[in-house]
Amino acid sequence: MTEVTVVGAGPVGLAAALAARHHGARVTVLEAGAEHRGRPGSRAIFVHRTTLDLLERISPGLGGEVAGAGLVWRTRRTLWRGREVYARTYPGPAARARFTSLPQTVVEALLRRACARAGAEIHWGDAVREIRSGPGGVELVTAAGRHWRTPCVIAADGARSQVRAGLGIPLDGTTAGTGFAVVDVAGGPGDDAAERIFHYGHPGAGGRNVLLVPFRGGWRVDVQCRPADDPGQWAATAERWLPALLPGTSGAQITWSSAYRFHQRVAAAFSDPHHRVLLAGEAAHLLPPFGARGMNSGIADAVAAADAVAAHSRAAVAAYAHTRRAAALANAHAAGQALAHLSADGPLRRTAQRAAALLAPGWDRAGRWLDRAPYGPRLRSVRY
Ligand SMILES: Cc1cc2nc3c(=O)[nH]c(=O)nc-3n(C[C@H](O)[C@H](O)[C@H](O)COP(=O)(O)OP(=O)(O)OC[C@H]3O[C@@H](n4cnc5c(N)ncnc54)[C@H](O)[C@@H]3O)c2cc1C
Repeated sequence: MTEVTVVGAGPVGLAAALAARHHGARVTVLEAGAEHRGRPGSRAIFVHRTTLDLLERISPGLGGEVAGAGLVWRTRRTLWRGREVYARTYPGPAARARFTSLPQTVVEALLRRACARAGAEIHWGDAVREIRSGPGGVELVTAAGRHWRTPCVIAADGARSQVRAGLGIPLDGTTAGTGFAVVDVAGGPGDDAAERIFHYGHPGAGGRNVLLVPFRGGWRVDVQCRPADDPGQWAATAERWLPALLPGTSGAQITWSSAYRFHQRVAAAFSDPHHRVLLAGEAAHLLPPFGARGMNSGIADAVAAADAVAAHSRAAVAAYAHTRRAAALANAHAAGQALAHLSADGPLRRTAQRAAALLAPGWDRAGRWLDRAPYGPRLRSVRY
């Protein structure tokens, strides 16, 4: 029987464990955090159809469970300085929703239940501190001093991956200066009233860009800060500006606030030289929330990594490392295009945006461009 050790029990590690169990492998997950830890914030709320299909494939019924736990907003709306420039309502409810919107914590809880059902063993509260890989396998040493020998590792230990660092693999790329404040607000809209709204220059936020996205149980509000703003300070004082962005709400409904920056960072290699360790999720790439490429692409990594390990060949792992790194680079590039649009630094882009806003009422294409561009191009050729 194949033996796989997964490092990290975030959504990507849990998906890797499930996918490996689906191939009949014996799976051990090593997780630094405690079993009943609370992970804060809605974070990756947008779960793509492709991800739901992958989850269904590795754990029959799971894709449907995740879809059923979320909310599908059917209307997308974009405003330019308070004036609507684009609105579209999709017919529904569709039998197979194209996505679902729910807090990452709920997805993780469903993945954990599925892992328990599938018999993936999770060791909580013991972080991996050292890793040595060789032609015959991998040795891991944990904070508690335990030694693990294993034929292969799927490393899903997040943005500050100890595994990646231990292998000496750099995370190349950039982090933009532009910061965002993010807030979760309890008590989102009912399914029929749910709309995703993007504001260029929201008058209630001093002309800053604002994204409002409903999810099951709440609203997610992202505010794009100006270069001189302190995003952390904006997040900490959300009760002051929130009512202007979501009328009828108050600071008392805020359940989480944080700040983030746009990362476009990709590991220089997705496996070690011996093809025994496969990096997945944020251990392999850091991508910004706009475009929802983080968790979705991480789960695609996880499933592909388990497929490669099940193939028992160095060539399959090398192919994994090549194709998933290419997907991450394409995602990072797409995120860069989204950021360029959101920042509108150059006069050309600013003029194009203003012209589109002027033309939008009579020219649908202009409105559609304003609506879609903040998320970057759709990548049809890569699986996230
Ligand atoms: C403020 C914020 C907003 C976000 N918004 C979005 C969004 O809108 N859309 C989106 O797609 N994504 C969003 N994300 C990103 C999303 O949360 C990540 O893409 C997702 O969590 C990545 O999953 P992962 O499993 O790769 O890593 P993680 O979720 O970080 O999981 C890594 C796991 O590994 C464990 N671990 C770490 N080190 C070790 C070790 N040495 N040994 C063992 N275990 C270890 C950690 O405890 C953790 O459980 C957001 C993130 C933040 C912080």
